[in-house]
Amino acid sequence: MSERVDIAIVGGAAVGASTAWHLACWYGAGARIVVIEKDPAYARAATALSASSIRRQFSAAINVRISGYGVALLRAAPRLLGFDPTFREGGYLFLATEAGRAALAANHATATEEGADILWLEPAELAARFPWLNTKGIAAGTFGRTGEGWFDGLGLAQAMRAKSRDAGVAWRTGEVAAIATEGDRVRGLVLADGTRIDADRVIVCAGCDTPTLLAPFLELPVRRRKRMIFFLRCADPLPGLPLVIDPSGAYIRPEGEGFICGASPPAEEDPDVAAEDFDLSDGFFEERVWAPLAARLPALERIRLDRAWAGHYDVNTFDHNALLGPIPGIAGLFAACGFSGHGLQQAPAVGRGLAELALWGRYVAMDLSPLGFARLAHGQRVEERAII
Ligand SMILES: Cc1cc2nc3c(=O)[nH]c(=O)nc-3n(C[C@H](O)[C@H](O)[C@H](O)COP(=O)(O)OP(=O)(O)OC[C@H]3O[C@@H](n4cnc5c(N)ncnc54)[C@H](O)[C@@H]3O)c2cc1C
Repeated sequence: MSERVDIAIVGGAAVGASTAWHLACWYGAGARIVVIEKDPAYARAATALSASSIRRQFSAAINVRISGYGVALLRAAPRLLGFDPTFREGGYLFLATEAGRAALAANHATATEEGADILWLEPAELAARFPWLNTKGIAAGTFGRTGEGWFDGLGLAQAMRAKSRDAGVAWRTGEVAAIATEGDRVRGLVLADGTRIDADRVIVCAGCDTPTLLAPFLELPVRRRKRMIFFLRCADPLPGLPLVIDPSGAYIRPEGEGFICGASPPAEEDPDVAAEDFDLSDGFFEERVWAPLAARLPALERIRLDRAWAGHYDVNTFDHNALLGPIPGIAGLFAACGFSGHGLQQAPAVGRGLAELALWGRYVAMDLSPLGFARLAHGQRVEERAII
């Protein structure tokens, strides 16, 4: 069985849905577009398991710009998508010890030069503004007064899916087994059930599965790594709690009537994991999450841990930033992966950029070419150091 389209998208979670929506609704593409998604319930997609937060505080200026469009889209979503993503602009509060103060100052300068609304706070100012915070050992903090917070990321992707479908994009349930090429051109997709979809433009947005699909064309330094999220309730109030990032790497933010929290593990405790491994690691919550957070926010002494889950980051071990754009050497083939934990907030800008590449062969609204795959061969890192 075979079918012919103009543009085929592999993976329909945050990035694939944004690409389809931008193609069909934003740019009004008259092309025949299909999205192939293996699990329309998104049970194991990072999009569904994410902490779903957005920030302007990064070390790489391009990331500040990228999430700027994400913020604009979230604010406009009720009007543009007929969907309220419940964007809470509660801010991020990054905390640094003396050792981290210079890096924090550099990130603050980068964000403010890009127009982000980030306050620099000395310890006395932190204590006055956030009375529940233990500032012992803290040399400074930065707080996103506006344009940072959390939202319903899965809902946003589903709203984009629905709108793109209304605009004529076909959404099919199926697993892509291979990308078909002829010489140096993409020709379409082969599904696991043998169906062939002919297309002269293919966009791969398959999250952690992207490196496998692209393996015949290039080797990617993108690894599947586990991250856990813990939902807890706290007996004592934490009024005005932003998304707090402790110098230890543990973070917490409000979520409904409770809080979600997690931590980046140290490199030696962060192995590659199997696609099926969503098990929670014993002791991680107590040692890496709760202990540092309760020391920083003493109210967390009295908590009840309600539930927890694990998801997979697609970590780009080269420079901890997205890899996106044309695949070198294969005309018509595009991809985006390696988001390293900040892909949900980047999905709006990345989807728009991929749509532009597929339609016009170049970026129009925002130049995302510094994040292109070619930087791997050229050894040009766009290092992101503010990784959570
Ligand atoms: C615990 C955790 C917390 C996070 N917190 C944040 C955060 O606060 N802010 C933020 O910006 N980002 C965060 N992220 C990262 C963010 O969730 C991801 O970067 C983003 O969701 C990636 O979207 P995606 O569409 O590229 O991939 P995914 O959401 O993984 O979706 C890929 C889709 O492709 C489909 N697929 C895969 N292979 C195939 C195939 N062969 N055929 C057909 N379909 C296929 C999958 O079923 C899936 O639906 C977090 C991630 C995790 C795991």
